[in-house]
Amino acid sequence: MEQGLTIGIAGAGIGGLAVAALLTRAGHKVTVYDQFDEPGPVGSGLILQEIGLCVLAELGLRPAAEELGADINRLWGVASETGRTVLDVRYEALRPGLKGVAILRPVLFQLVYQAALDSGVAIVPGARILNVNAGAGMIMTEGGKTLGPFDLVIDALGAHSPLSDLPRHQLPYGALWATLPLPADGFKSDALEQRYEGARKMAGVMPSGRAAPGGAQTVTYFWSIRASDHTAWQALPIEDWKTQALALWPETEPLLAGITSHSDLTFARYAHRTHWPVVQGRMVHLGDAWHATSPQLGQGANMALLDAFALAKAMSGPGDVAARLEAYKRMRAIHVRLFQTMSWLFTPVYQSDSVILPWLRDWLAAPVSRIWPGPQILAAMVSGAIGAPLKRLGLKPAR
Ligand SMILES: Cc1cc2nc3c(=O)[nH]c(=O)nc-3n(C[C@H](O)[C@H](O)[C@H](O)COP(=O)(O)OP(=O)(O)OC[C@H]3O[C@@H](n4cnc5c(N)ncnc54)[C@H](O)[C@@H]3O)c2cc1C
Repeated sequence: MEQGLTIGIAGAGIGGLAVAALLTRAGHKVTVYDQFDEPGPVGSGLILQEIGLCVLAELGLRPAAEELGADINRLWGVASETGRTVLDVRYEALRPGLKGVAILRPVLFQLVYQAALDSGVAIVPGARILNVNAGAGMIMTEGGKTLGPFDLVIDALGAHSPLSDLPRHQLPYGALWATLPLPADGFKSDALEQRYEGARKMAGVMPSGRAAPGGAQTVTYFWSIRASDHTAWQALPIEDWKTQALALWPETEPLLAGITSHSDLTFARYAHRTHWPVVQGRMVHLGDAWHATSPQLGQGANMALLDAFALAKAMSGPGDVAARLEAYKRMRAIHVRLFQTMSWLFTPVYQSDSVILPWLRDWLAAPVSRIWPGPQILAAMVSGAIGAPLKRLGLKPAR
Protein backbone atom coordinates (compact mmCIF):
# COMPACT_ATOMS: atom_id res chain seq x y z
CA MET A 1 0.00 0.00 0.00
CA GLU A 2 1.36 3.45 -0.96
CA GLN A 3 1.28 5.85 2.00
CA GLY A 4 2.71 9.34 2.34
CA LEU A 5 1.89 10.45 -1.21
CA THR A 6 2.94 13.87 -2.48
CA ILE A 7 -0.30 15.60 -3.48
CA GLY A 8 -0.85 18.93 -5.24
CA ILE A 9 -4.31 20.46 -4.90
CA ALA A 10 -5.38 23.09 -7.43
CA GLY A 11 -7.87 25.41 -5.70
CA ALA A 12 -8.30 26.46 -2.06
CA GLY A 13 -12.09 26.54 -2.07
CA ILE A 14 -14.42 24.58 0.19
CA GLY A 15 -13.67 21.21 -1.43
CA GLY A 16 -9.93 21.75 -1.93
CA LEU A 17 -9.31 22.84 1.66
CA ALA A 18 -11.47 20.09 3.16
CA VAL A 19 -9.71 17.32 1.23
CA ALA A 20 -6.33 18.92 2.02
CA ALA A 21 -7.03 18.79 5.78
CA LEU A 22 -8.25 15.18 5.63
CA LEU A 23 -5.36 13.94 3.45
CA THR A 24 -2.74 15.68 5.59
CA ARG A 25 -4.22 14.14 8.73
CA ALA A 26 -3.96 10.75 6.98
CA GLY A 27 -0.19 11.23 6.53
CA HIS A 28 0.10 12.55 2.98
CA LYS A 29 2.24 15.58 2.03
CA VAL A 30 -0.19 18.12 0.67
CA THR A 31 0.27 21.54 -0.98
CA VAL A 32 -2.71 23.66 -2.06
CA TYR A 33 -2.35 26.35 -4.76
CA ASP A 34 -4.81 29.18 -5.33
CA GLN A 35 -4.91 32.35 -7.38
CA PHE A 36 -5.96 34.53 -4.42
CA ASP A 37 -3.30 36.83 -2.97
CA GLU A 38 -4.86 36.84 0.47
CA PRO A 39 -7.36 34.26 1.70
CA GLY A 40 -10.61 36.16 2.12
CA PRO A 41 -13.18 34.97 -0.35
CA VAL A 42 -16.49 36.55 -1.09
CA GLY A 43 -19.68 34.58 -1.47
CA SER A 44 -23.35 34.46 -0.73
CA GLY A 45 -25.05 32.55 2.04
CA LEU A 46 -25.47 28.86 1.29
CA ILE A 47 -27.27 25.99 2.97
CA LEU A 48 -25.29 23.19 4.58
CA GLN A 49 -27.38 20.04 4.45
CA GLU A 50 -27.03 17.06 6.77
CA ILE A 51 -24.70 15.43 4.19
CA GLY A 52 -22.27 18.37 4.35
CA LEU A 53 -22.65 18.79 8.11
CA CYS A 54 -21.60 15.14 8.60
CA VAL A 55 -18.33 15.81 6.75
CA LEU A 56 -17.79 18.99 8.78
CA ALA A 57 -18.30 16.83 11.91
CA GLU A 58 -15.44 14.57 10.70
CA LEU A 59 -13.30 17.70 10.39
CA GLY A 60 -14.35 18.81 13.90
CA LEU A 61 -16.13 21.87 12.46
CA ARG A 62 -19.83 21.04 12.87
CA PRO A 63 -20.35 22.79 16.24
CA ALA A 64 -18.77 26.02 14.94
CA ALA A 65 -20.80 25.87 11.70
CA GLU A 66 -24.02 25.37 13.67
CA GLU A 67 -23.10 28.16 16.09
CA LEU A 68 -22.38 30.67 13.31
CA GLY A 69 -25.09 29.51 10.91
CA ALA A 70 -28.88 29.84 11.00
CA ASP A 71 -31.15 26.80 11.29
CA ILE A 72 -33.33 26.30 8.20
CA ASN A 73 -36.40 24.13 8.74
CA ARG A 74 -38.43 25.04 5.69
CA LEU A 75 -38.18 26.15 2.04
CA TRP A 76 -41.26 28.15 1.19
CA GLY A 77 -42.13 29.57 -2.25
CA VAL A 78 -45.17 31.66 -3.19
CA ALA A 79 -46.45 32.64 -6.69
CA SER A 80 -46.73 36.41 -6.34
CA GLU A 81 -49.66 36.88 -8.75
CA THR A 82 -51.95 34.43 -6.95
CA GLY A 83 -50.48 34.31 -3.44
CA ARG A 84 -50.54 30.49 -3.68
CA THR A 85 -47.86 28.46 -1.93
CA VAL A 86 -46.23 26.48 -4.73
CA LEU A 87 -43.20 25.12 -2.85
CA ASP A 88 -43.31 23.97 0.74
CA VAL A 89 -40.51 21.71 1.81
CA ARG A 90 -40.21 20.87 5.47
CA TYR A 91 -37.08 18.98 6.51
CA GLU A 92 -38.91 17.26 9.36
CA ALA A 93 -41.11 15.45 6.78
CA LEU A 94 -38.11 13.15 6.23
CA ARG A 95 -36.96 12.82 9.85
CA PRO A 96 -37.79 14.68 13.06
CA GLY A 97 -34.97 17.07 13.96
CA LEU A 98 -33.55 17.18 10.40
CA LYS A 99 -32.60 20.71 9.31
CA GLY A 100 -30.29 22.70 7.07
CA VAL A 101 -27.82 25.25 8.39
CA ALA A 102 -27.48 28.42 6.30
CA ILE A 103 -24.04 29.98 6.59
CA LEU A 104 -22.11 32.77 4.91
CA ARG A 105 -19.63 31.29 2.45
CA PRO A 106 -16.72 33.37 3.84
CA VAL A 107 -17.49 31.94 7.30
CA LEU A 108 -17.50 28.37 5.98
CA PHE A 109 -14.30 29.14 4.06
CA GLN A 110 -12.61 30.47 7.20
CA LEU A 111 -13.53 27.30 9.12
CA VAL A 112 -12.09 24.90 6.52
CA TYR A 113 -9.10 27.19 5.86
CA GLN A 114 -8.16 27.20 9.55
CA ALA A 115 -8.69 23.42 9.76
CA ALA A 116 -6.32 22.96 6.80
CA LEU A 117 -3.67 25.21 8.37
CA ASP A 118 -4.03 23.49 11.77
CA SER A 119 -3.60 20.11 10.06
CA GLY A 120 -0.27 21.25 8.57
CA VAL A 121 -1.36 21.85 4.96
CA ALA A 122 0.94 24.15 2.94
CA ILE A 123 -1.20 26.79 1.18
CA VAL A 124 0.45 28.73 -1.64
CA PRO A 125 -1.38 31.93 -2.73
CA GLY A 126 -0.79 33.93 -5.91
CA ALA A 127 -0.62 30.80 -8.08
CA ARG A 128 -2.89 31.14 -11.11
CA ILE A 129 -3.13 27.67 -12.61
CA LEU A 130 -3.35 27.35 -16.36
CA ASN A 131 -2.87 23.69 -17.12
CA VAL A 132 -1.88 20.26 -15.88
CA ASN A 133 0.22 17.47 -17.36
CA ALA A 134 -1.97 14.68 -16.00
CA GLY A 135 0.37 11.89 -17.10
CA ALA A 136 3.41 13.38 -15.34
CA GLY A 137 1.48 14.92 -12.37
CA MET A 138 2.75 18.46 -13.09
CA ILE A 139 0.86 21.75 -12.61
CA MET A 140 1.58 24.76 -14.88
CA THR A 141 0.95 28.27 -13.58
CA GLU A 142 0.86 31.76 -15.04
CA GLY A 143 4.38 33.13 -15.38
CA GLY A 144 5.67 29.86 -16.84
CA LYS A 145 6.24 27.99 -13.55
CA THR A 146 5.91 24.20 -13.42
CA LEU A 147 5.04 22.65 -10.06
CA GLY A 148 5.56 19.01 -9.15
CA PRO A 149 5.87 16.21 -9.97
CA PHE A 150 3.02 15.03 -7.75
CA ASP A 151 1.81 11.47 -7.18
CA LEU A 152 -1.68 12.96 -7.42
CA VAL A 153 -3.09 16.28 -8.65
CA ILE A 154 -6.59 17.22 -7.42
CA ASP A 155 -8.57 19.64 -9.57
CA ALA A 156 -10.66 21.66 -7.07
CA LEU A 157 -10.74 24.85 -9.17
CA GLY A 158 -14.52 25.19 -9.10
CA ALA A 159 -17.12 25.63 -11.82
CA HIS A 160 -14.77 27.41 -14.22
CA SER A 161 -11.78 25.11 -13.81
CA PRO A 162 -9.40 25.50 -16.76
CA LEU A 163 -8.18 21.91 -16.27
CA SER A 164 -10.68 20.53 -18.72
CA ASP A 165 -11.44 21.28 -22.31
CA LEU A 166 -14.87 19.64 -22.15
CA PRO A 167 -17.61 22.14 -23.03
CA ARG A 168 -19.69 23.53 -20.17
CA HIS A 169 -23.25 24.61 -20.71
CA GLN A 170 -23.69 28.23 -19.61
CA LEU A 171 -27.16 28.42 -18.07
CA PRO A 172 -29.28 31.32 -19.36
CA TYR A 173 -30.11 32.58 -15.86
CA GLY A 174 -27.91 33.53 -12.91
CA ALA A 175 -28.57 35.63 -9.81
CA LEU A 176 -27.72 38.91 -8.16
CA TRP A 177 -27.18 38.54 -4.46
CA ALA A 178 -26.40 40.67 -1.40
CA THR A 179 -25.78 39.92 2.26
CA LEU A 180 -27.75 42.31 4.47
CA PRO A 181 -28.62 42.74 8.16
CA LEU A 182 -31.63 40.63 9.23
CA PRO A 183 -34.61 43.00 9.66
CA ALA A 184 -36.30 42.95 13.07
CA ASP A 185 -39.46 41.38 11.64
CA GLY A 186 -41.21 40.50 8.41
CA PHE A 187 -39.29 37.33 7.53
CA LYS A 188 -39.25 33.86 8.99
CA SER A 189 -36.01 33.30 10.86
CA ASP A 190 -35.87 29.58 9.99
CA ALA A 191 -37.00 29.48 6.35
CA LEU A 192 -35.62 30.18 2.88
CA GLU A 193 -38.50 32.16 1.32
CA GLN A 194 -39.01 32.75 -2.39
CA ARG A 195 -41.47 34.67 -4.56
CA TYR A 196 -42.05 33.82 -8.22
CA GLU A 197 -43.69 35.31 -11.26
CA GLY A 198 -43.67 32.44 -13.73
CA ALA A 199 -40.06 31.29 -14.07
CA ARG A 200 -38.79 34.64 -15.36
CA LYS A 201 -38.87 36.43 -12.03
CA MET A 202 -37.74 35.03 -8.73
CA ALA A 203 -36.51 36.60 -5.51
CA GLY A 204 -35.26 34.78 -2.42
CA VAL A 205 -34.51 35.71 1.18
CA MET A 206 -32.48 33.35 3.33
CA PRO A 207 -31.28 33.86 6.91
CA SER A 208 -27.52 33.29 6.68
CA GLY A 209 -26.19 33.45 10.23
CA ARG A 210 -23.40 35.66 11.56
CA ALA A 211 -20.02 36.75 10.26
CA ALA A 212 -18.44 36.21 13.71
CA PRO A 213 -19.49 34.85 17.12
CA GLY A 214 -21.81 37.35 18.79
CA GLY A 215 -22.17 39.33 15.54
CA ALA A 216 -25.42 40.55 13.99
CA GLN A 217 -27.64 38.05 12.17
CA THR A 218 -27.64 38.40 8.37
CA VAL A 219 -29.87 37.45 5.47
CA THR A 220 -28.88 36.79 1.87
CA TYR A 221 -31.16 38.32 -0.77
CA PHE A 222 -31.24 36.76 -4.27
CA TRP A 223 -32.70 38.19 -7.48
CA SER A 224 -32.84 35.86 -10.48
CA ILE A 225 -31.69 37.50 -13.69
CA ARG A 226 -31.13 36.42 -17.28
CA ALA A 227 -27.36 36.61 -17.86
CA SER A 228 -27.93 38.44 -21.15
CA ASP A 229 -29.88 41.14 -19.23
CA HIS A 230 -27.09 41.87 -16.75
CA THR A 231 -25.57 44.71 -18.78
CA ALA A 232 -29.00 46.34 -19.26
CA TRP A 233 -29.62 45.99 -15.50
CA GLN A 234 -26.34 47.82 -14.80
CA ALA A 235 -27.50 50.67 -17.05
CA LEU A 236 -30.89 50.92 -15.31
CA PRO A 237 -31.10 53.32 -12.32
CA ILE A 238 -31.03 51.19 -9.16
CA GLU A 239 -34.32 52.73 -7.95
CA ASP A 240 -36.05 51.50 -11.14
CA TRP A 241 -34.87 47.97 -10.42
CA LYS A 242 -36.04 48.29 -6.81
CA THR A 243 -39.49 49.27 -8.04
CA GLN A 244 -39.64 46.01 -10.02
CA ALA A 245 -38.31 43.98 -7.11
CA LEU A 246 -40.85 45.51 -4.70
CA ALA A 247 -43.69 44.89 -7.15
CA LEU A 248 -42.79 41.18 -6.97
CA TRP A 249 -42.36 41.17 -3.18
CA PRO A 250 -43.44 44.35 -1.34
CA GLU A 251 -42.38 43.01 2.08
CA THR A 252 -38.71 43.17 1.06
CA GLU A 253 -38.79 46.98 1.32
CA PRO A 254 -36.81 47.16 4.60
CA LEU A 255 -34.20 44.85 3.12
CA LEU A 256 -33.86 46.66 -0.18
CA ALA A 257 -33.37 49.94 1.69
CA GLY A 258 -29.86 48.59 2.35
CA ILE A 259 -29.16 48.42 -1.42
CA THR A 260 -28.28 51.86 -2.74
CA SER A 261 -26.09 51.10 -5.76
CA HIS A 262 -25.49 48.35 -8.29
CA SER A 263 -22.24 47.45 -6.53
CA ASP A 264 -24.23 46.31 -3.47
CA LEU A 265 -25.34 43.31 -5.52
CA THR A 266 -22.97 40.63 -6.89
CA PHE A 267 -23.78 38.77 -10.09
CA ALA A 268 -23.26 35.01 -10.22
CA ARG A 269 -23.57 33.23 -13.55
CA TYR A 270 -24.32 29.53 -13.48
CA ALA A 271 -22.88 26.76 -15.65
CA HIS A 272 -23.79 23.09 -15.84
CA ARG A 273 -21.26 20.34 -16.55
CA THR A 274 -20.46 16.89 -15.23
CA HIS A 275 -16.87 16.00 -15.99
CA TRP A 276 -16.43 12.41 -17.18
CA PRO A 277 -13.98 10.81 -16.86
CA VAL A 278 -13.43 11.98 -13.28
CA VAL A 279 -9.92 10.48 -13.25
CA GLN A 280 -7.39 11.38 -15.95
CA GLY A 281 -3.93 9.90 -15.43
CA ARG A 282 -2.69 11.29 -12.11
CA MET A 283 -5.39 13.99 -12.00
CA VAL A 284 -8.80 13.71 -10.34
CA HIS A 285 -11.67 16.23 -10.31
CA LEU A 286 -13.56 17.23 -7.17
CA GLY A 287 -16.43 19.57 -6.23
CA ASP A 288 -17.71 22.00 -8.85
CA ALA A 289 -14.75 21.09 -11.09
CA TRP A 290 -16.37 17.62 -11.35
CA HIS A 291 -20.04 18.61 -11.23
CA ALA A 292 -20.98 22.25 -11.70
CA THR A 293 -24.64 23.21 -11.73
CA SER A 294 -27.08 25.96 -10.73
CA PRO A 295 -27.54 26.31 -6.95
CA GLN A 296 -31.30 25.72 -7.29
CA LEU A 297 -31.12 22.50 -5.24
CA GLY A 298 -28.54 24.04 -2.86
CA GLN A 299 -26.11 21.10 -2.95
CA GLY A 300 -22.81 22.39 -4.43
CA ALA A 301 -20.79 22.97 -1.26
CA ASN A 302 -22.27 19.85 0.30
CA MET A 303 -21.30 17.72 -2.70
CA ALA A 304 -17.78 19.20 -2.61
CA LEU A 305 -17.51 18.20 1.07
CA LEU A 306 -18.76 14.67 0.30
CA ASP A 307 -16.22 14.38 -2.54
CA ALA A 308 -13.47 15.54 -0.16
CA PHE A 309 -14.35 12.90 2.44
CA ALA A 310 -14.70 10.17 -0.20
CA LEU A 311 -11.35 10.98 -1.83
CA ALA A 312 -9.50 11.08 1.50
CA LYS A 313 -11.12 7.79 2.53
CA ALA A 314 -10.29 6.17 -0.83
CA MET A 315 -6.65 7.33 -0.61
CA SER A 316 -6.30 5.44 2.69
CA GLY A 317 -7.62 2.28 1.06
CA PRO A 318 -5.83 -0.70 -0.50
CA GLY A 319 -4.12 -0.85 -3.89
CA ASP A 320 -2.15 1.61 -5.97
CA VAL A 321 -3.17 5.21 -6.67
CA ALA A 322 -5.22 4.18 -9.72
CA ALA A 323 -7.19 1.62 -7.70
CA ARG A 324 -7.87 4.15 -4.94
CA LEU A 325 -9.11 6.73 -7.42
CA GLU A 326 -11.43 4.10 -8.88
CA ALA A 327 -12.78 3.55 -5.34
CA TYR A 328 -13.39 7.34 -5.02
CA LYS A 329 -15.35 7.32 -8.25
CA ARG A 330 -17.43 4.33 -7.12
CA MET A 331 -18.28 5.99 -3.80
CA ARG A 332 -19.55 9.21 -5.39
CA ALA A 333 -20.66 8.52 -8.98
CA ILE A 334 -24.30 7.52 -8.34
CA HIS A 335 -25.04 10.51 -6.08
CA VAL A 336 -23.33 12.89 -8.51
CA ARG A 337 -25.31 11.52 -11.48
CA LEU A 338 -28.60 11.70 -9.57
CA PHE A 339 -28.19 15.29 -8.37
CA GLN A 340 -26.80 16.59 -11.63
CA THR A 341 -29.82 15.12 -13.41
CA MET A 342 -32.30 16.49 -10.87
CA SER A 343 -30.68 19.92 -10.99
CA TRP A 344 -30.77 19.90 -14.82
CA LEU A 345 -34.49 19.04 -14.74
CA PHE A 346 -35.54 21.40 -11.94
CA THR A 347 -33.58 24.57 -12.74
CA PRO A 348 -35.79 25.62 -15.71
CA VAL A 349 -38.88 25.16 -13.54
CA TYR A 350 -37.67 28.14 -11.48
CA GLN A 351 -35.35 30.02 -13.86
CA SER A 352 -36.25 30.01 -17.56
CA ASP A 353 -38.37 31.71 -20.20
CA SER A 354 -40.77 28.77 -20.25
CA VAL A 355 -44.46 29.47 -19.72
CA ILE A 356 -45.50 25.82 -19.47
CA LEU A 357 -43.01 24.67 -16.80
CA PRO A 358 -43.99 27.23 -14.13
CA TRP A 359 -47.67 26.63 -14.92
CA LEU A 360 -47.19 22.89 -14.34
CA ARG A 361 -45.22 23.74 -11.18
CA ASP A 362 -47.97 25.93 -9.75
CA TRP A 363 -51.06 23.98 -10.74
CA LEU A 364 -49.98 20.34 -10.91
CA ALA A 365 -46.71 19.66 -9.08
CA ALA A 366 -47.50 21.88 -6.08
CA PRO A 367 -50.79 20.16 -5.10
CA VAL A 368 -49.36 16.68 -5.78
CA SER A 369 -46.28 17.45 -3.67
CA ARG A 370 -48.50 17.85 -0.59
CA ILE A 371 -49.77 14.28 -0.83
CA TRP A 372 -47.75 11.34 0.57
CA PRO A 373 -44.97 10.59 -0.37
CA GLY A 374 -44.45 14.07 -1.94
CA PRO A 375 -43.29 15.86 1.25
CA GLN A 376 -40.85 13.04 2.07
CA ILE A 377 -39.39 12.98 -1.46
CA LEU A 378 -38.98 16.78 -1.52
CA ALA A 379 -37.27 16.76 1.90
CA ALA A 380 -34.96 13.94 0.76
CA MET A 381 -34.08 15.86 -2.41
CA VAL A 382 -33.36 19.13 -0.63
CA SER A 383 -31.36 17.51 2.16
CA GLY A 384 -29.23 15.62 -0.41
CA ALA A 385 -30.30 12.21 0.93
CA ILE A 386 -31.45 10.67 -2.37
CA GLY A 387 -28.94 8.02 -3.42
CA ALA A 388 -27.85 7.41 0.22
CA PRO A 389 -24.53 9.29 -0.14
CA LEU A 390 -23.64 9.04 3.57
CA LYS A 391 -24.14 5.27 3.66
CA ARG A 392 -21.80 4.89 0.68
CA LEU A 393 -19.10 6.71 2.66
CA GLY A 394 -19.75 4.85 5.93
CA LEU A 395 -21.06 8.03 7.59
CA LYS A 396 -24.16 8.23 9.78
CA PRO A 397 -26.45 11.26 9.96
CA ALA A 398 -26.50 12.90 13.38
CA ARG A 399 -30.20 13.67 12.93
C1 LIG B 1 -25.27 32.45 -5.58
C2 LIG B 1 -24.85 31.05 -5.17
C3 LIG B 1 -25.58 30.37 -4.20
C4 LIG B 1 -25.19 29.08 -3.80
N1 LIG B 1 -25.93 28.43 -2.85
C5 LIG B 1 -25.54 27.18 -2.44
C6 LIG B 1 -26.25 26.47 -1.40
O1 LIG B 1 -27.26 26.94 -0.84
N2 LIG B 1 -25.77 25.27 -0.99
C7 LIG B 1 -24.65 24.72 -1.54
O2 LIG B 1 -24.24 23.63 -1.12
N3 LIG B 1 -23.96 25.34 -2.53
C8 LIG B 1 -24.37 26.56 -2.99
N4 LIG B 1 -23.68 27.19 -3.98
C9 LIG B 1 -22.57 26.48 -4.65
C10 LIG B 1 -21.28 26.44 -3.84
O3 LIG B 1 -20.84 27.75 -3.50
C11 LIG B 1 -20.22 25.71 -4.66
O4 LIG B 1 -20.78 24.51 -5.15
C12 LIG B 1 -19.00 25.36 -3.83
O5 LIG B 1 -18.35 26.54 -3.36
C13 LIG B 1 -18.01 24.54 -4.67
O6 LIG B 1 -16.83 24.32 -3.96
P1 LIG B 1 -15.49 23.98 -4.73
O7 LIG B 1 -14.48 23.74 -3.68
O8 LIG B 1 -15.73 22.93 -5.75
O9 LIG B 1 -15.15 25.29 -5.57
P2 LIG B 1 -14.94 26.86 -5.05
O10 LIG B 1 -15.42 26.93 -3.65
O11 LIG B 1 -15.56 27.62 -6.11
O12 LIG B 1 -13.38 26.99 -5.05
C14 LIG B 1 -12.59 27.10 -6.22
C15 LIG B 1 -11.26 27.74 -5.83
O13 LIG B 1 -10.40 27.68 -6.97
C16 LIG B 1 -9.74 28.93 -7.13
N5 LIG B 1 -9.43 29.08 -8.55
C17 LIG B 1 -10.30 29.11 -9.59
N6 LIG B 1 -9.62 29.18 -10.76
C18 LIG B 1 -8.31 29.21 -10.46
C19 LIG B 1 -7.11 29.22 -11.24
N7 LIG B 1 -7.13 29.25 -12.58
N8 LIG B 1 -5.92 29.20 -10.58
C20 LIG B 1 -5.86 29.16 -9.23
N9 LIG B 1 -6.96 29.13 -8.44
C21 LIG B 1 -8.18 29.15 -9.04
C22 LIG B 1 -10.72 29.98 -6.61
O14 LIG B 1 -10.03 31.15 -6.18
C23 LIG B 1 -11.37 29.22 -5.44
O15 LIG B 1 -10.69 29.46 -4.22
C24 LIG B 1 -24.04 28.47 -4.39
C25 LIG B 1 -23.31 29.16 -5.37
C26 LIG B 1 -23.71 30.43 -5.75
C27 LIG B 1 -22.90 31.15 -6.81
